[in-house]
Amino acid sequence: MTRIHPALLLVTAVALGPVATAAPPRPAGTVKPDSLYRPLTLDNGLVLPYPLDNLFRGWVECTGRGHHKALDIGGVGDDYGLGTPIRAMARARIVDIGLPDDDPKRFGTPLKDEDRVTRSGEDLPAWRDIEGYGRVHFFTKDYGAHRSGGLIAMKVLEGLLEGHELRYLHISAIPKHLAIGKVVDAGEIVALMGGTAVLDAPPHLHLDIVSPDGRSLDVGRILGIGATRVPCGADQGLTAAIRARYSKAARILMAALRNRAEEEGDNEPVKLCGPRIINDDFDDGALRIQRYVVEPLIDADGNPLPWELSVSRINGKRWSPRIQIDDLKGQALFTGTLSTSKAKKKASFKSHSSGKRGEARVSITPKTAEPMAVKVMAWPTHKRAYRDATYRLVIDRPCPPNSE
Ligand SMILES: [Zn+2]
Repeated sequence: MTRIHPALLLVTAVALGPVATAAPPRPAGTVKPDSLYRPLTLDNGLVLPYPLDNLFRGWVECTGRGHHKALDIGGVGDDYGLGTPIRAMARARIVDIGLPDDDPKRFGTPLKDEDRVTRSGEDLPAWRDIEGYGRVHFFTKDYGAHRSGGLIAMKVLEGLLEGHELRYLHISAIPKHLAIGKVVDAGEIVALMGGTAVLDAPPHLHLDIVSPDGRSLDVGRILGIGATRVPCGADQGLTAAIRARYSKAARILMAALRNRAEEEGDNEPVKLCGPRIINDDFDDGALRIQRYVVEPLIDADGNPLPWELSVSRINGKRWSPRIQIDDLKGQALFTGTLSTSKAKKKASFKSHSSGKRGEARVSITPKTAEPMAVKVMAWPTHKRAYRDATYRLVIDRPCPPNSE
């Protein structure tokens, strides 16, 4: 038995600085299909209900027709994601379910007599047989009195949104075992993407978050992509500019969340000690800083063990990787080649130079077992110089001498 605390090398990559220039769009197609819809947890503890690669309408405070106090999250992947999973954002109790099949007058008449449907010029399948759900019809012929299409509503039981209601609209199906009164876990699949009661737009999830006092919130702020609010009466140009801003924030967020999920490796065994090699990049220039949290190993007496890191450039000629090490409060302990005054009680650092451009190596002797954040940074000295930059980061936490 080993007495080493596993302290799994929690290597997380988090987007920090937005880039000055517009990041190239990162279509969902570049993500492996099997991981496109996996659950992703935000730093605030909420699970993303659906990938945010295709946002098309945010919060509009108008009376009458322009009114839209929700976020429309477009389907991603083949066929606009029709039939793909939508997840509960937190542990919650189901308070409402409405499906076209059960009440066509209210939720829309299911479109069952066609195999294909056109929405916003896209030719889409009208139905599919989905394991566990049977034949799922994705669309309705009309809006229905309620204009919601298929819906599921949940009252959140814990966390940031405790007491809030989550309302998911336009869904095509819900898992058969769910019913009003049942409790679902954060990340649990509660619906499938659809286009019910959507006649003039592509399939999407209309996500409405309602506070305990009955106000609909700007969902973008909760998801960490900033406000999506468009002032009433805004022209097309302003509306497009606001959408571009939160869509870009969403791309950066999605890249960071996926990166983190890759690094944590859903099924990979965690190495307790020894070198960990991470090949990474700046997501085609969408990120300027990649952040990795490293927890020192401790020996049998509870003392933190020294470790080492190195970074070397693999690709991208016009940039050089630069290292900064912070504590988890974001205070810099080490920048480039020098320790800061904040470092004194936490660790000592020694920078080694190989003399080769594009390489850096640092030895860390921690004074506490506190995790630190290693940041690999690309300086924006040259416009998009780091777009094709890739690097190899090696975090080496030597195994303690008496470990088994
Ligand atoms: Zn909507």
